[in-house]
Amino acid sequence: MPALTPRQHFVARLGLFVAGLATASSALAWLMHALSANPKPLDLIVPPISAAANLAAFVAILLRPRRARRWILYAMLTMAGMTACTSAFYLHQAMQPGAGLLVDLLPPVPALLIGTILINMLFFRPTTALRMGLAMWVLCALPILAYLVMHPTERQTARGLELVMLLGPISLLLAILIPLQRERDRQLQELQRAELRARNRAMRDPLTDLFNRRAFEDRLSSVIAQDSQPQQLILLDIDRFKSINDRHGHPVGDAVLREVARRCSATLARSAMFARWGGEEFAAVCAIEDDSPTRAAERMRAALAADPIAPVGEVTASFGVTRIHGHDTLESAVRRADEALYRAKHAGRNRVEQG
Ligand code: GH3
Ligand code: MG
Ligand code: MG
Repeated sequence: MPALTPRQHFVARLGLFVAGLATASSALAWLMHALSANPKPLDLIVPPISAAANLAAFVAILLRPRRARRWILYAMLTMAGMTACTSAFYLHQAMQPGAGLLVDLLPPVPALLIGTILINMLFFRPTTALRMGLAMWVLCALPILAYLVMHPTERQTARGLELVMLLGPISLLLAILIPLQRERDRQLQELQRAELRARNRAMRDPLTDLFNRRAFEDRLSSVIAQDSQPQQLILLDIDRFKSINDRHGHPVGDAVLREVARRCSATLARSAMFARWGGEEFAAVCAIEDDSPTRAAERMRAALAADPIAPVGEVTASFGVTRIHGHDTLESAVRRADEALYRAKHAGRNRVEQG
């Protein structure tokens, strides 16, 4: 499995921290209710369910850290559901004759609500966080606020005033963080795009748009390390390219390099990697076809020699081919291909030699 990106790693660590903390606080609330003289049934149901949901998220993040955001979403939806049930239950209780005042009965719903909204903002896109936050506010805060509006004696108590402030202006104030979060999200995406462009540019040769030598060496090293399907390394060098430059000028030489790159790439399988090795030299790494290590190189050689390249005329290249072994190093494989290429040059050019 590929390693986590720095961002996935950060989200997973933050997820572990949040889920761990929420598990501990829910378990503590459960214990305190269980030890109290006269616990309410809901107080013995909501905290253990919240603790279990957060513990499940914690374990899931440990096992599948790549999906941390999803596990946190499940835990937060459970927390939201539990908070809404708690509000509804105590509102219902307070409305029963002789049951007591809501301000005396209600557990710390605002703290749960604000905490869950803030956690949503940490993990989810601004629009998603806003929708989830609003849904929670409508389900948990609005009914309590409506109740307090209709019961002025409760509203005017210290807890009543605090509930109005926390469930009203303060929880709604969190919405002002959304534009900030959106801007941060935009900047992050821009940075990620710029990084991708820069990384892509660092791997490409600007003249031919082929992969450059650095990218090719990375691929060759991983092919050697994998040592799976039989693979080969091909080095090719355009014959007497200096005289093309001398006779037709550098811009025509550049156009020839681009045409050679195009023709050779077209003969290779999609899984092959073709790169500009440097100057008028190119390199390919590809699977060996039908146990014939020279076949792919022969196809490239024929594709060049078959038709002239205007205005230069016939352009040919010499090829050195070698089979890649599991015990190879980058240097040993390149050395064999280079020696074979050298032999092809000395044997008269426009030919493939195997090393
Ligand atoms: P051989 O058949 O032995 O390979 O002869 P050659 O002339 O191809 O070999 P040599 O190494 O003497 O010349 C390579 C030339 O490639 C020299 C250099 O100016 C030219 N060259 C290298 N990079 C570029 C480039 O980006 N554009 C152009 N137009 N020429 C280039
Ligand atoms: Mg050369
Ligand atoms: Mg050459």
